[in-house]
Amino acid sequence: MRVIVTGTGDAFSNTRFGSSALIETPEGFVAIDCPSACLAMYREASRISGIEIDPGRIHDVLMTHLHVDHAGGVETLAFYRRYKAPDQGRPGLWAAPAVMDRMWERLAPSMDGRQFGDEPQSTLDDYFEPGVLAIEGRTRVANLEVRVRWTVHAVPTVGMLISDGTSTLGWSGDTEFVPEHAQWLSEADLVIHECGESAKHATWAELSTLPLELQQRMRLIHVPDEVTLPEGPMVPLKDGEVLEVGRSVSKTA
Ligand SMILES: [Zn+2]
Repeated sequence: MRVIVTGTGDAFSNTRFGSSALIETPEGFVAIDCPSACLAMYREASRISGIEIDPGRIHDVLMTHLHVDHAGGVETLAFYRRYKAPDQGRPGLWAAPAVMDRMWERLAPSMDGRQFGDEPQSTLDDYFEPGVLAIEGRTRVANLEVRVRWTVHAVPTVGMLISDGTSTLGWSGDTEFVPEHAQWLSEADLVIHECGESAKHATWAELSTLPLELQQRMRLIHVPDEVTLPEGPMVPLKDGEVLEVGRSVSKTA
């Protein structure tokens, strides 16, 4: 499974894009989260990785939660697909129930086309093929099998286990340090864990209490700009980095 890390920043980063990634599948890209300035982010990730990223080829978007550094680009992608790439069809937009429940509430004021007191002209289904990520069970997205687990953050947020049948990626989502969450993620070949170093986020010191074997299979994102983490097995990722999950988690670019 080839994963392009499109962003590693947090909500306040002014040097990196919001924490997010793209997984290559035969159907197109499957995005994990879609932060603000997503079109610039995909262009920059293309430049760094050497992999052409056409936002028209994003087949699905998997959402962990609705904070701006994860969901701020959903409107941009929706309008891009409607007006700039109308032949590519609607992408799938996937979220767990309590996240999906408020998705349109977040998007509607700028996307439903409603004028002074008129009826709304558009719904979420006009832009995306929405789908709910089952909390108990497995959801098929493109050629991937996705499992999600609620974790502890300021708003409803899931972590994800994403498998292509050969290898599995673990994605923590934004989360406080929750040992059971890390344990659940640990069946993955590679775990990408947030390290926000503040309230509602995990800290490096907390993550360092996890088994060394797991730390060696972990990479970190969401580290604030001003924080320099100590050296150790949990290496922070960079925007535009490409990971080959499964083949000893080698870095290919
Ligand atoms: Zn968050």
